Amino acid sequence: MIIDALTHILPPYFNEHRDEALARDRTFAELFANPKARIVQAEHLLIEMERSEVDRSVIAGFGWTDLDLAKRSNDYLLECASKHPDVLIPLCSVNPLWPNDAAPREAERCLNFGARGIGELHADTQGWVDLPYNCLDDIMSVARQYVENRNKIAFVVVHSSEPLGHTYPGKGTMTPDRLLQLAARFPENSFIFSHFGGGLPIYEHMPEVKPALANVAFDTAAAPFLYNSDIYATIESLVGGTRIFFASDFPLITQRRALEHLRNSELTLYRQKMILEVAGQLYDFSRSAKNQT
Ligand SMILES: [Zn+2]
Repeated sequence: MIIDALTHILPPYFNEHRDEALARDRTFAELFANPKARIVQAEHLLIEMERSEVDRSVIAGFGWTDLDLAKRSNDYLLECASKHPDVLIPLCSVNPLWPNDAAPREAERCLNFGARGIGELHADTQGWVDLPYNCLDDIMSVARQYVENRNKIAFVVVHSSEPLGHTYPGKGTMTPDRLLQLAARFPENSFIFSHFGGGLPIYEHMPEVKPALANVAFDTAAAPFLYNSDIYATIESLVGGTRIFFASDFPLITQRRALEHLRNSELTLYRQKMILEVAGQLYDFSRSAKNQT
């Protein structure tokens, strides 16, 4: 069983109205200003999964800023997951800074229709990177309520930024110090900090940091663009294999390339398999998807 814990698919509307979306949504503009940045649909992901022998994929949009585009994207993810319930697992995207209670209402709507978490959120383009994070109180509460009602985890997936290294579209400044503050403010929420949390795991050796990250997992999304294959053994030694989720960031990177990058690591097969499968356990993918909502 191989679970890809973060892929991105968008409805054809985004291909057909690319210029309009660039003008309306700051996150879309940041990530897709380059005409070579690919926008793909579920069909493309399913073909890639077949090729790479990935069994299940978490499907997400991005941290949209435009409510209408976010709803289109969320509806598409929910629809794809209902067509392929044993294969695709949807997240939903909201902007905590939408006026009134639009963000918690949209999150609640999507979770009621089968979304299994909120994300990927992009704090920089969404405009909350520097806040004390109280703007997230309501959506975090929606995620916790889901757990209470269903006894299943609703993850909040947050794009993370490395303070070092090369720049890339969407990199942002959600660096380990900020991620730590976010986790500390919402200790009862379960987070996935993407891209190895921008290096946050290294600080788990600090006794004051470790408890704040008790409910935080890290995904490997885009790892081949950021690190060499030694990163897996390094992070695994810091946080253990149960808190690292294999993720490709498809279509940015093919699932095949992401898998090869992990397989080139020093980790034993046993430990690689844990990273490939653990997200399945925590999302309850192992059970029939029909019983999941
Ligand atoms: Zn990301």
